[in-house]
Amino acid sequence: MPVNSAAKNATVVVIGAGASGLAAAHALRERNIQVRIIDRAYRAGEAWYHRHPQLRLNTHRHLSGLPGLAIPRAAGAFPSRNSIIRYLDEYAAQLDAPIDYGVKVTEISKAPSGWAVETSAGVYRAQHVVVATGYASKPAIPDWKGRETFSKQLVHAADLGDIEQYRNRKILVVGAGNSGTDILNHLSTIETDRIWVSVRHGPVIFPTRLCGIPMQRLSPLFAMMPVPVADAMLALTGHLAFGNLKKWGLGKHSHGGITRLLDTGTAPAIDNGFVAALKAGKVTVVPEIECFESTGVRLIDNQYIEPDIVIAATGYKTGLQSILGYGSILDESGVPKIDGAKQMHGYPGLWFTGMQPRLTGFFHQAGHNAREIAAAIDIEMHLEHAGISNDIVEIQAQAPSANTEQVHYQRSSLNESR
Ligand SMILES: Cc1cc2nc3c(=O)[nH]c(=O)nc-3n(C[C@H](O)[C@H](O)[C@H](O)COP(=O)(O)OP(=O)(O)OC[C@H]3O[C@@H](n4cnc5c(N)ncnc54)[C@H](O)[C@@H]3O)c2cc1C
Repeated sequence: MPVNSAAKNATVVVIGAGASGLAAAHALRERNIQVRIIDRAYRAGEAWYHRHPQLRLNTHRHLSGLPGLAIPRAAGAFPSRNSIIRYLDEYAAQLDAPIDYGVKVTEISKAPSGWAVETSAGVYRAQHVVVATGYASKPAIPDWKGRETFSKQLVHAADLGDIEQYRNRKILVVGAGNSGTDILNHLSTIETDRIWVSVRHGPVIFPTRLCGIPMQRLSPLFAMMPVPVADAMLALTGHLAFGNLKKWGLGKHSHGGITRLLDTGTAPAIDNGFVAALKAGKVTVVPEIECFESTGVRLIDNQYIEPDIVIAATGYKTGLQSILGYGSILDESGVPKIDGAKQMHGYPGLWFTGMQPRLTGFFHQAGHNAREIAAAIDIEMHLEHAGISNDIVEIQAQAPSANTEQVHYQRSSLNESR
């Protein structure tokens, strides 16, 4: 249904009706702030419909519920894809905020009093915009030499489909990060002809359970530790669970799991069958790809393998460059330099959520960011209502390096700001 022009003016426009956007809208409504959600898809949680049917969350149910609605106990410790689809659907239905589906955002630009959001349904105007379009908006496949000459199947992890279609096939999985390991966990449950995994660096792998304890539940504890301690704890947990995997070809990354997460956004992989399959000889570790040829793949050690299917678990892009241009708010790979309640000079009222992986998981972070963003917007609005100028007091540089220019804003008191 077309949205009339008046309705397109909102205090806050949230872009994205996935977990992050829905949680942000919920937190804003709790503070009675007017909010409108837009999504290019025609239903909430669209990303989850495209994930493979056997997928389960690798974050624990207790750490994955969004504010205001727990994931039902019946969904189990690690809910299935279908449970998450149902959950997000119910979350959206209970939300006291309009959602404009089928509306694609093409550009966000600064307007005299806030932001103009250019969409396929016209321009929305808002004082604040929360960008929750997902860190995994666009599957990324490297531009491997000879890719176009490959006569077999090459798919991205995002298009994995039903795991059953890989039965009795020869499969090469490229990448043993979070997605690659998840795929290998699933492939290890079916009969296959061969499985290779092409690994550049050794992954940091975490067991799903150790002595029956779901390890992901400990992630808030790990997240509170100093980075070197958390790195060491993660390595120790992996070693206790799996021993040294070097003799099966899986080396160790030179950086610890938390350091990698913070530096590159690569979350530790979660094992649920892959390591056992590796030790049983069902999975063979091979080095990086040199190039594709007509019938197979040449590796950097000159080995030639002939998989029927190559699955590229090679990551995602945010796809935000086309919407936000190449301005300084995005890094060179298109990831926003800020997330949650952080603001950046020159972009007041532009917020991001769901853009930076955390050990506790995206769902958990969605709730955390939602509460913080809603609180920050609430403060902004109260100050504006009280007629206080839009000047901001910079209290704490948050940037790990000066070039990110991230700052936390706070007005310590009304009087001080006047
Ligand atoms: C295989 C896989 C398994 C995962 N497992 C877990 C897990 O166990 N636990 C966990 O916490 N996280 C997991 N994640 C991370 C996962 O991405 C998040 O849990 C969650 O889907 C992120 O929600 P989001 O709202 O940030 O992004 P998304 O779910 O991607 O939602 C973004 C929304 O924005 C919309 N959108 C995008 N661009 C535009 C545009 N230009 N205009 C309008 N709308 C737009 C999209 O249609 C979409 O609905 C997994 C990811 C993958 C790929």
